[in-house]
Amino acid sequence: TPLDRIRNFSIIAHIDHGKSTLADRLIQVTGAVTAREMKEQLLDNMEIERERGITIKAQTVRLNYQAKDGQVYTLNLMDTPGHVDFAYEVSRSLAACEGSLLVVDASQGVEAQTLANVYQALDANHEIVPVLNKVDLPAAEPERVKQQIEDVIGLDASDAVEISAKTGLNIEGVLEAIVTRLPAPKGDPAGTTKALLVDSWYDAYLGVVVLVRVKDGHLRKGQKIRMMSNGAVHTIEQVGVFTPKMAAVESLGPGEMGYVTAAIKTVADTNVGDTITDDRRPAEEPLPGFKPSIPVVWCGLYPVDADDFEKLRESLGKLRLNDSSFHYEAETSAALGFGYRCGFLGLLHLEIVQERLSREFDLDLIATAPSVVYKLTKTNGEKIDLHNPADMPDGSLVEEIEEPWIKATIMVPDDYLGAVLTLCNERRGQQVELTYVGSRAMAVYRLPLNEVVFDFYDRLKSVSRGYASFDYAMDGYEPGDLVKISILVNNEPVDALSFMAHRSAAERRGRQICEKLKELIPRQLFRIPIQAAIGGRVIARETISALSKDVTAKCYGGDITRKRKLLEKQKEGKKRMRQFGKVEIPQSAFIAALKMD
Ligand code: GDP
Ligand code: MG
Repeated sequence: TPLDRIRNFSIIAHIDHGKSTLADRLIQVTGAVTAREMKEQLLDNMEIERERGITIKAQTVRLNYQAKDGQVYTLNLMDTPGHVDFAYEVSRSLAACEGSLLVVDASQGVEAQTLANVYQALDANHEIVPVLNKVDLPAAEPERVKQQIEDVIGLDASDAVEISAKTGLNIEGVLEAIVTRLPAPKGDPAGTTKALLVDSWYDAYLGVVVLVRVKDGHLRKGQKIRMMSNGAVHTIEQVGVFTPKMAAVESLGPGEMGYVTAAIKTVADTNVGDTITDDRRPAEEPLPGFKPSIPVVWCGLYPVDADDFEKLRESLGKLRLNDSSFHYEAETSAALGFGYRCGFLGLLHLEIVQERLSREFDLDLIATAPSVVYKLTKTNGEKIDLHNPADMPDGSLVEEIEEPWIKATIMVPDDYLGAVLTLCNERRGQQVELTYVGSRAMAVYRLPLNEVVFDFYDRLKSVSRGYASFDYAMDGYEPGDLVKISILVNNEPVDALSFMAHRSAAERRGRQICEKLKELIPRQLFRIPIQAAIGGRVIARETISALSKDVTAKCYGGDITRKRKLLEKQKEGKKRMRQFGKVEIPQSAFIAALKMD
């Protein structure tokens, strides 16, 4: 296809504003799939995406559109995830396109992630076409929302396209805007081959599939390609496009998007953002790539049933094949047994992985409290990244602890602003900016990430009755007065329950856990102290009193069959019991304690 008849575009929006519905409609209107094949949200092909109605992996599809000017255009659409945890996937979709459709729900207006996505698109030098969706709703106020887009984002919205993705109203208008208002890609067909590696995943039939955007030159079957980041050479087996089904083509040229297979063993051998070039005539300079994704939230995942450990290992391996942003390494815990320390892009990512493990792999799991990555400087000068509070060295050996901060943008109706500001202040937030857009406030805060992983979303939702929207970006590390709180049962530390907190919150949170454990741990023949401690200093304490003599006497004096039954029961429960000093405590108590929030 000649370059001037190609358009590559992303759809960006706040979650639920209708990206995926619009993508479906574009596919349907251009006839890429027959009515029978058409399923709602065709691109969201993971089961969880479908159920939760969110898009996790960026997806792409090639459409052919005969425009009003009589020409047939090739439109490459990239659907993007709208959720804050997946900003990284958004950035790589954007790097593969020249323009964006900015979808805004005309009944809701601009939200936190609308802004975040627009800023990313502007950073990627995109031309942006505003699209007002859901104009079929009685509550839609397109004129007000246009004004808001101009005021808040500073984007000309006078010729925003008004549509209903649901009813199909004015989808033609969107297609014409893509053709007439978005720029065609540039590239040199005769130049040395340069293609951006946008994404990769594992396909049961084809092996590793690599999603590419060709900038210069061509990719074709049999060609020897070289990955510029590590010099690895592969021979192309197949090139193709998504229609949205995978369809092989002769070659991919400048401006085109598609896939390549090349007998690549694992997804780990492909680096997103890498430049693919021709091995015989390699490019000198790689394309500007983008930063690799780094897990910011870590937690331990343990099988509830110890016999499931092997299954957990295999399942994590399979998940990782299609999600290179997720990390895991083996770890053991005295309280929970064998498990894995896992790293995620954010809390939603964590939740999704956990849910996929339980649903697709039928695993019953327990997760320890999420923790952020702290940077420690020891008194001997050594620097370490702390992923697990249990690995925290003795306080006297630590010179300084730095914690990650974020810059959060919260949009909320005026009525709930007070409650939101109180919440941010309680979480050690620093206000950066507070502005109004009509009756909505936009608060920009700096917050320690540590305070956000601890039930911040839930609290934000509840204090704003669900009306607040939230987005964040990492904003560097800063030293903080942080301490490790250990929880001791019968004077033995329970590794899985230890956590890091700011000194000002340590006592309150330590007490909460002690009180909870007191309820959960069954009484024994002797008293069991439960303590929260910073180093050697106890900051909260509860005691489980001993069973009274009468009860034990009855228990052991009973008839023989009852005694035997009791013994058998104990044996059954054996593998779920954990030893703490002289006492055995059912694992279920720790599991319940971890489910606390
Ligand atoms: P995404 O999160 O941006 O991908 O949003 P979806 O496409 O999943 O849409 C979110 C919800 O809004 C779904 O329930 C859609 O059916 C609904 N929706 C999408 N477009 C429209 C529209 O034009 N009108 C109405 N009334 N609902 C819509
Ligand atoms: Mg979606």
